[in-house]
Amino acid sequence: MYIVSACLLGEPCRYDGNDNLTDWVKELTEDHTVCMVCPETLGKLSVPRPKSEIKDGAVINEEGEDVTKAFEDGARIAYIRAVAAAMSIGEEIEGAILKSNSPSCGKDKVYDGTFTGTMVDGEGIFAKTLREHGIKIYTEKEKF
Ligand code: SF4
Repeated sequence: MYIVSACLLGEPCRYDGNDNLTDWVKELTEDHTVCMVCPETLGKLSVPRPKSEIKDGAVINEEGEDVTKAFEDGARIAYIRAVAAAMSIGEEIEGAILKSNSPSCGKDKVYDGTFTGTMVDGEGIFAKTLREHGIKIYTEKEKF
């Protein structure tokens, strides 16, 4: 079973109410089990919602609010949901396919907290949670 960012499968759960539908990820669902999660909405953030970026380890939205707890709650809930889903069907979690650059799902690069479109090395809150649990992470740019 793969964990997949819900927006990559066409769920309109992005901050702006759009999705990030990615054909090869969608096609993967034809012969693999997936657990589709959006950690930000699982953290009770709304759609749409203000854009957020990571700055000095905290997640701050463009209105200046600290939304770190919602991101951390959502990451934990999403992880638990995926583990439970895998257990319920007797499968291992083979990896996760996550949306690049997101403050939740981003793997290697995230925006720098200045809301100027500047990227820095770093990872999103959910990606960090999965990495700490030893789950291999891919992005939608790493087709396999
Ligand atoms: S939190 Fe992840 S799954 Fe949800 S919209 Fe952002 S990138 Fe997509």
